[in-house]
Amino acid sequence: MTIVSLHGHEALRERLAAQMDRAALPASLLFHGPAGVGKQRLALWLAQRLVCESPDRPCNVCQHCRYAGTLQHRDIHWMFPHPSVPNGNEKDLETLGEIQDARVQERAEANGLYARPDGSAGIFRYDTRLLVHVASRSPALARRKVLIIGDAERMVSQAASQEAANAILKLLEEPPADTTLLLTSSEPGALLPTIRSRVVSVRVAPLPEATMRAALADPMIAAVVPNAPVNELLRLAGGAPGALIGADDRAAAITRAKQLLAAADAGPEQRLRAAFAAGSSKARGAFTDVLDALTVLVHDRIRTAAARGDEPAARRAARVVPAIEEAKRAAEGNANPQLVTAQLLETIAGVP
Ligand SMILES: [Zn+2]
Repeated sequence: MTIVSLHGHEALRERLAAQMDRAALPASLLFHGPAGVGKQRLALWLAQRLVCESPDRPCNVCQHCRYAGTLQHRDIHWMFPHPSVPNGNEKDLETLGEIQDARVQERAEANGLYARPDGSAGIFRYDTRLLVHVASRSPALARRKVLIIGDAERMVSQAASQEAANAILKLLEEPPADTTLLLTSSEPGALLPTIRSRVVSVRVAPLPEATMRAALADPMIAAVVPNAPVNELLRLAGGAPGALIGADDRAAAITRAKQLLAAADAGPEQRLRAAFAAGSSKARGAFTDVLDALTVLVHDRIRTAAARGDEPAARRAARVVPAIEEAKRAAEGNANPQLVTAQLLETIAGVP
């Protein structure tokens, strides 16, 4: 499967191409900008240009380009947040590599289009181990290899592991001569300062309206965004076409979170009914989306209450936040969504 075309960012592409052609492209770059604006797609484009061996790069016809265009180039490594692998830290590099290849294959089958990973997805310690290993090897096909780390701020959780943190910092500071590192983030402020200081930041701006219209007319993109009038989509996307992917799911998560908050305030019977409506299914991603939406709603409540000077209400809402965080941790484990929801609603109801 060919991945979706890169829409827009022409001026930035020219700048990067010019830097590359005079051998002045930094070894470690950070693309930052709004979620869904195409930062990882841009990184894949640059990676393709780095491995293409035609004079007119990227030519889109050479073997390197063909592999890159189907996410099969063995010197382009794309890491992104994913659900945690059980016992990931105990797995050997070969197994981790196979699991990672399967994730990339899944993205290739979806034309490189994907919804924003939910709150429980991350880039874990064992991923760092795999990246460091991959960086240490010689390129398989091309003269260079490229490591892309999407949503790099999701690596933050491993601050707890000094060893993993040091390994990635060393890699960013001194990548092997044949290696380019491309990080992306829509929340660069959440990146460890020690990471930010080791990369050259490049801003990826929202797409202008004409480019957005062209992107929305792209059949691959049209197939995965909500079925709504173009003007409505333009307003929702804010110049970031990828933000529209999974927009229906996000709207559903917010509706569900509102229902849960209302049930928490209603009574024991309503709480139980709302909890059982959660379903015990394997839709763990959908469940963590609801918990993420709850966090957003509760923070809205805190702000609104504070703005109207209602301090007790603001304090009460703030006391709910740890309960939601605890529910998220339980959801990351193997807990049953119905039981987690029931417990959470009781806790919210019991907050003084
Ligand atoms: Zn080529």
